[in-house]
Amino acid sequence: MAKTKKKHVRKQHSKKTNPFLILLLVAALVTGASQIFSDTSSKKERKEVPLSEIQSLYAAGGLEEVFIDKGEIRATQGDVIYVANRLPYETVSDLGFDNKDIAVPVEVYDVASSDFWDGVFKFWGPVLLIIFIFLFLMKKAGSGGGMNFGSSKAKLVLDKDSKTKFADVAGAEEAKEELMEVVDFLKHPKKYVKIGAKIPKGILMVGEPGTGKTLMARAVAGEAGVPFFSISGSEFIEMFVGVGASRVRDLFSKAKKISPSIIFIDEIDAIGKQRGKGYGGGHDEREQTLNQILTEMDGFDNESNVIVIAATNRPNVLDKALLRPGRFDRRVVIEMPNAEEREQILTVHIQGKEMAKKIDLKELSKKTPGFSGAELESVVNEAAITSARHNKKTISQEALLEAVEKVMMGPEKKSKKVLEKERQIIAYHEVGHALVSHKIDECDPVHKISIVARGGAAGLTWYLPDEESQLHSKQNLFARICGLMGGRIAEQMKFGDDAITTGASNDLERATKIAQSMVARFGMTGIGLSVFTQNDESFLGVDIHQGKNYSENTAQKIEAEVERILQKAYKIGSDILKKNNKTFEKIAQDLLAKEVINQKEFEAYFA
Ligand code: ADP
Ligand code: ZN
Ligand code: MG
Repeated sequence: MAKTKKKHVRKQHSKKTNPFLILLLVAALVTGASQIFSDTSSKKERKEVPLSEIQSLYAAGGLEEVFIDKGEIRATQGDVIYVANRLPYETVSDLGFDNKDIAVPVEVYDVASSDFWDGVFKFWGPVLLIIFIFLFLMKKAGSGGGMNFGSSKAKLVLDKDSKTKFADVAGAEEAKEELMEVVDFLKHPKKYVKIGAKIPKGILMVGEPGTGKTLMARAVAGEAGVPFFSISGSEFIEMFVGVGASRVRDLFSKAKKISPSIIFIDEIDAIGKQRGKGYGGGHDEREQTLNQILTEMDGFDNESNVIVIAATNRPNVLDKALLRPGRFDRRVVIEMPNAEEREQILTVHIQGKEMAKKIDLKELSKKTPGFSGAELESVVNEAAITSARHNKKTISQEALLEAVEKVMMGPEKKSKKVLEKERQIIAYHEVGHALVSHKIDECDPVHKISIVARGGAAGLTWYLPDEESQLHSKQNLFARICGLMGGRIAEQMKFGDDAITTGASNDLERATKIAQSMVARFGMTGIGLSVFTQNDESFLGVDIHQGKNYSENTAQKIEAEVERILQKAYKIGSDILKKNNKTFEKIAQDLLAKEVINQKEFEAYFA
C-alpha cells in the first residue's frame, strides 16, 4: 500500500484459427447446403393428372407449392404430388400460375428456367461454398489481399501522411542528433556513396514503453520525406507457419521498390528473442521470420537506400545475430524524460488545447518523475476530459495535478465502502510508511498520504524524489526497505501481533525483491561479489528463481541474508515509530479525519 506506479502491460495477440474448427464448420455448412438444394419430393406419392386439375386446385387454394419443371409440372398438396405434362414453351403466366387473386397464395417455382443454376447449385454449390469459405478465412488470417495471404500487412505511410517532424518529439536531443545522420543519408544518399561511407542499415531504438520510439521513427521518415512502412513484431507472430517469412520478403521488396524508404519494426523482441529460449508453439515460426529479416538485411547493398529501424524495450533478450555488424548495429537509446524534458513534452501536448491562464508546467513536471511521454500525454488528455465533463471552458492547473494522480494511481474510488475498523488500520499503516521514511534521510520526501481508495490500493503514501538519480546506493536501497516495512510495523504496534493484515503483502513483496537484488545482483552484502541473477528485467524487478545458476548452499545463504536485511529494516522502523509515538498517533488521527494529508501539512508536524 505504498506508492504504486502503473506499468505498461504488453498484450500478446494470438489469432490462430484452429484448422480442425474450420473443417467442422465446412462440414456443417455442406450438410446444410445439400439439404437446401435436394429435392423435397422424395417421400411423397406421385399422381399423374391432367394439367387442368392442377389449375383448378390452384384456383381453389388447395395447393402448397407448384414446380414448373422441364417436361412436367408438379404441385404438392400434403403428401401427394400431382404431376402433369408441360410443353417446353409454356411459361408461368401461360399456365396461369401467376394469378394474384387466388384464394390462397401458392409458391410457384420456375425450376426449368433456372435449370442451369439448379444443376450448378446441386453439384457445385457445396464445392463453391467450401472454396468461398476457404478464401474468406485466408483473407481474415492473412493479408487482406485476397489469395495473396503472404503479403505484408505493414502500413505504407507516404510522405504526405508522415507529417511528424523532430519538433513533435520533445527532449531526447541526443537521440535526435544521431538520427539526423540517417535523415541526411536518406535525403542525399549520393554524397555518402561517393565518398565511400557505409551507412548503417539497421538502427535499434531502445527505450521504455511510451518514451516515443514509434514517434521518433515516424519523425525520421517525416524529416527525410520518405515512405515509411511500419509493422509490429507481434503482427508477424499472428499467423500460420511460414507466412511470417514470406511477409518479411514481401515487406522488404516493397520497400526496395520505392526506396529511399524506412521499414519500422516495432516490438522486435516479439520475433527477435534469443533462439533456444522460446517457449510453446510459434517458436519455429519466429525463428523463420527472424532468419528472413537477417537474410534480407544481409542482402542490402550500399545503394538500396532502405533503412530498417526496430524498436524494443527489452534489448537484452534480443538474439545476438540481430545485433551483429551490418544488421542492427546502431543503437539509439531513448531515455525516460527528465524534469526539463517532461516540461517540453507537456508543452507539446497542450498545443491546441484550451488552457487556463495560470498554468505551471514546471510544477507539473516536478511532480511527474518517472512519467513517460505517453503518460504525460494522457495526463493532459485526462485533464481535458474531466474539465469538459465539469463544463469548464479551460483546463486548470488543479485539473492537471488531479490527472497526474489519476494516471499514476488509477481513479479515486470515493464511494467505496470501507469498514471503520479497516479505515483505522489503513490510516495507521500509511502513516507508518510516511513517518519511517521521513525519519530516514536517504528516503524520498513524502508528497502525500491518502486513505481514499484508488486503483487497486486502499490507501497510499506517495513519495517524490527531489532529483532523479541514476545510481542507487546501498543506503538508499536499504532506506526504501525500511519505508516499505513501515506499514506492517505500524499495524503491529497499534493493533497487536494478531491483528496484522494482508495489507502489507505488496510492501513485503517489494521489500523482498529489493533485498534480493542487493544480495544476489548488486553484490552489496556480506555474501560476496558474485552475481546470481541476470539483468534481463527492469530495475529491482528480478525474479531470483528464474534461471537459477547457483548451488543449494548459496541459495540458503542468499535467503538467510535477505531475511537478515528485512529484519534489520523492521527493527529500525519499529524504533522510529516507538520514539515518535505521539506524532504517529496525531498524524494518523488527522488522516482519519481529513483522508488526505499533503506534503506541507505533513512537514508541519516536524517543524
Ligand atoms: P513507444 O513507441 O516508445 O512505446 P510512442 O512513440 O508510441 O512510444 O509514444 C506514445 C505517445 O506518447 C506518442 O504518440 C506521443 O504523443 C507521446 N510521446 C512520447 N514521447 C514523446 C516526446 N518525447 N515528445 C512528445 N510526445 C511524446
Ligand atoms: Zn503499505
Ligand atoms: Mg511504440
